Amino acid sequence: MDKVKIEAIKELLAQPKNIVLVAHRNPDGDAIGSTLAMQHYLKLKGHNARTVLPNDVPEFLQWLPRVDSVYKYDKQNSQSKKAIEESELLFVLDFNAFHRVGEDMQKALETYKGTFIMIDHHQQPDPISEFIYSDTSICSTCQMVYHFIDMLGDVAEINADIATCIYTGIMTDTGSFRFPSTTSTTHKVIGDLIDKGAKNAVIHDNVFNTNSVSRLELLGTALSNMKVLQELHTVYITISQAELTKANYKKGDTEGFVNYGLSLKGINFAVIFIEDEEQKIIKISFRSKGKFSVNQFARNHFNGGGHDNAAGGRSELTMEETVLKFTGLLPTYKKEISASYEN
Ligand code: 5GP
Ligand code: MN
Repeated sequence: MDKVKIEAIKELLAQPKNIVLVAHRNPDGDAIGSTLAMQHYLKLKGHNARTVLPNDVPEFLQWLPRVDSVYKYDKQNSQSKKAIEESELLFVLDFNAFHRVGEDMQKALETYKGTFIMIDHHQQPDPISEFIYSDTSICSTCQMVYHFIDMLGDVAEINADIATCIYTGIMTDTGSFRFPSTTSTTHKVIGDLIDKGAKNAVIHDNVFNTNSVSRLELLGTALSNMKVLQELHTVYITISQAELTKANYKKGDTEGFVNYGLSLKGINFAVIFIEDEEQKIIKISFRSKGKFSVNQFARNHFNGGGHDNAAGGRSELTMEETVLKFTGLLPTYKKEISASYEN
């Protein structure tokens, strides 16, 4: 973000303000980590700051500091609307197009009268504000929040709560510091966050060792539904609503399932199709290894987007039709997928 914009933001933050922080629907570790980190930081600076998320926080993140203060737009509708309407500044974190918050909350953002500040690492940001800090090369919005606080000259003020939230988002968005988006800067930031009070072993334990028996059973179902298309270097998994219901599905339970496909030798493209009866859609997650852009694939065919190696999308067809559409597309991409990754 250029110096002029940073100076203007410093001006905006010079007096105490009512500020709201929002992230995308079905918020993940980076979305919740970045909003809560900014909430803690802004409160420290004397502002009245409130996080409003479109819907609930998954269980594996419900230990984050002050997660109880978050308004959920779907369940706490009037408080959420009021908080947005009464705010002067609204931080858009970990997404870059209003439709990512879902239809209801999208309207509140579209009619918002205050000033937006966007911090995000997804591709092709919508021009929603004059204050856009967008960098698709950075692994996570949480790392960008660290740099943002640094640009404001306040890195020394990062306390244990802020550090914990930022650490969590970096960890979850980098697959625990494994993905190619993890740089030496990421590790330097992480080192500093540990120095500032993020308890790394506790955070890993809180996020990853909270499986329920039913979630592991659902993973078993997902893995037994897995189809390996070795010739096409592709794997796909389906989970039906009936299978979710049988496993007593809770939000977040399928997080990370798609990555099992990529752990197979020679597989460069992994996809999971999850039926959502309530929204009447098939929610899709795409992951790739190497050059094959799942962002483009999701954009071109499944009304979605995201990053080069991790994207999402949706289909309004039935599960069977969706899978047929998908497998029908694969031969066109065979060369690209095969050549995506060489080690
Ligand atoms: P996931 O598969 O974990 O839901 O999402 C992977 C990445 O793609 C995340 O960064 C997420 O924000 C983004 N993403 C997921 N679904 C969509 C979508 O429908 N549209 C766009 N533009 N991005 C998405
Ligand atoms: Mn993110």
